[in-house]
Amino acid sequence: MTLKNTILRIAVPTPLRRLFDYLPPQGVDIEHLKPGCRIQVPFQTRKLVGILIDVVKKSDVPVAKLKKAHAIIDNTALISNELMRLALWASEYYHYAVGEVLLSVLPKALRQGKTLPALPALVAPLASDLNLALSQEQTQAQQAIIASANTFNVFLLDGVTGSGKTEVYLQAIAHYLVQGMQALILVPEISLTPQTIARVAARFSVPVLAWHSNLSDKVRLHTWFAAANGDAKIIIGTRSAVFIPFKQLGIIIVDEEHDTSFKQQERFKYHGRDVAIMRSKFNAIPIVLGSATPSLESFMNAQNARYTHLNLSTRLGHAQMPHYQLLDMKKQVQVEGLSQALQENIAEHLAQNNQVLIFLNRRGFAPVFYCNECHTILQCERCDARLVYHRSPLRLQCHYCDSVVLVPKQCAQCQSESVCAVGVGTQRLESKLQVLFPDVPIIRLDRDNTKRKGAMQDLLTQMHQAEKAILIGTQMIAKGHHFKNVTLTAIIDVDVGLCSAEFKALEHTAQLILQVGGRAGREHKAGSVLIQTRNPEHKMLKLLLQQGYGHFARQLLCERQMAGLPPYTYCTLVRAESYQLSVMQDFLLKVKTLVSQAGFALQCLGPVTPMLAKKKGLHAQHLILQAQQRPVLQACLKQLVPQIEAIKFNGKFTIDVDPLEF
Ligand SMILES: [Zn+2]
Ligand SMILES: [Zn+2]
Repeated sequence: MTLKNTILRIAVPTPLRRLFDYLPPQGVDIEHLKPGCRIQVPFQTRKLVGILIDVVKKSDVPVAKLKKAHAIIDNTALISNELMRLALWASEYYHYAVGEVLLSVLPKALRQGKTLPALPALVAPLASDLNLALSQEQTQAQQAIIASANTFNVFLLDGVTGSGKTEVYLQAIAHYLVQGMQALILVPEISLTPQTIARVAARFSVPVLAWHSNLSDKVRLHTWFAAANGDAKIIIGTRSAVFIPFKQLGIIIVDEEHDTSFKQQERFKYHGRDVAIMRSKFNAIPIVLGSATPSLESFMNAQNARYTHLNLSTRLGHAQMPHYQLLDMKKQVQVEGLSQALQENIAEHLAQNNQVLIFLNRRGFAPVFYCNECHTILQCERCDARLVYHRSPLRLQCHYCDSVVLVPKQCAQCQSESVCAVGVGTQRLESKLQVLFPDVPIIRLDRDNTKRKGAMQDLLTQMHQAEKAILIGTQMIAKGHHFKNVTLTAIIDVDVGLCSAEFKALEHTAQLILQVGGRAGREHKAGSVLIQTRNPEHKMLKLLLQQGYGHFARQLLCERQMAGLPPYTYCTLVRAESYQLSVMQDFLLKVKTLVSQAGFALQCLGPVTPMLAKKKGLHAQHLILQAQQRPVLQACLKQLVPQIEAIKFNGKFTIDVDPLEF
């Protein structure tokens, strides 16, 4: 092939969902045109860094109209074939612009077209921990995973809290490391990575590196290359680590696979776990999804034998499963959200030098600020949300746009001075507990006091070092932590989750109850879990606590099947945002017409107004596309998305495939 009829097909970081054709730069050696290398191109009035996807002979655009690329940046492919295939698949499946997918997976310096600085040599730690003895169930699980080397196989490691899933991961990984392969461990939260890294690094004498959003650009760049050239043997990271290049990936672990933080909610709305499964498939390697409370979709796949179901049914050593008890709040005397029975239980556990963990998913002092005379509730001016009352510093704050206003002395509507903060947030609970238990350290963990780097780790260390103590927190305390002295955990309010209309709310509430409860009694002391509710007769709640998660999940799957909901059907949201409500509604109605004219076998529901109907002044609504068959839905989107893009609309639209909520 000569340069004369060579056309470069390039992914450029723009929201447009297509590739762009260019002519090769002046005097370039055709040998250097490797798919996956970076190329600087003119785009509108700017210079952008794009990725070469293909070299072709013909373009739909007349050659005379094609622009010339400025320069080739890399002599070899920066995006390996393997990563390219994954990114192209993700772009197609999630209907997100391919250029943005490819460029978003790159560290910042590479996105900007910089070349690689010298890499420091990686230091391998000296392993100090030995393998623990495996139980019979753990051995079976580990053997099954090892036997699947170089084969695509999805394992659901379904193990109750404290059953030793991590030990199974580690001993399975050891097998792949010996063969010179690498391992990727995905975890839901940044807060869990230091803990996991420490444990993994203590076990293996190989370089183990972290990947998450709090890393500096320089560290990310080094980690990226250390994984790509094979120096880093184990990468532990949050969802975006699924797009790191590896030299020879042998196994992927997704810990706490049910966790909703694996799904990116902004812009490129991919699910880290699902992308990881595709990556395993493309690479023909095993993947292990671990959870004490598997997502219903994974649970169903295990039931259908599409996944291999591995069970760990008991806690390790002498630890027993905690005892669950419901407290009927209709019959309880309560102060600041704490029932009499809960207060007494806390006192008893503390008296025995034990620790208590209290879950409340509402940060701030009080969730509502209210006028007693005219019943006005203070709202954010830019969002369809209530302002939350905070102390230190005293303010009302919107948790969606972070705007802050002064606390008024009187009502703006009726001038009454009878205004007050209603309801209980973590700060109010903290002050009340300080009064009730003045001699006990009370540690609060939520977004307000963990923003500073290292703050979260400091608070967790305090908890680990204290004797008796109370830990109060939002969902960040529910996940993966191991506190050996916690014998009582309490959930202040499950009713929001039990009574929500969202189709996944009950599933997520059950997972939360067992995850929070699972923090109690993890070693030799017995654990109790107290749940405050006004719905103690709730059928599914009782089923969960009396029969366990497996029975609960099967029943909930039956209900989803009857209602025609995922995972029995497939859904995608077409979401629109605009400052003008009517403009947005017109747009969605046009989309709806396109869908019905296209004649695919699917339903189009809506426009639906989400819970947060307005955020930062932007109105939002969406259509729900629902089909019995995934390929039908995908075919419909493939045909319609370019037509939707062509509609004139003063706002923006996004596609959310497999949404977490309606
Ligand atoms: Zn008023
Ligand atoms: Zn707001």
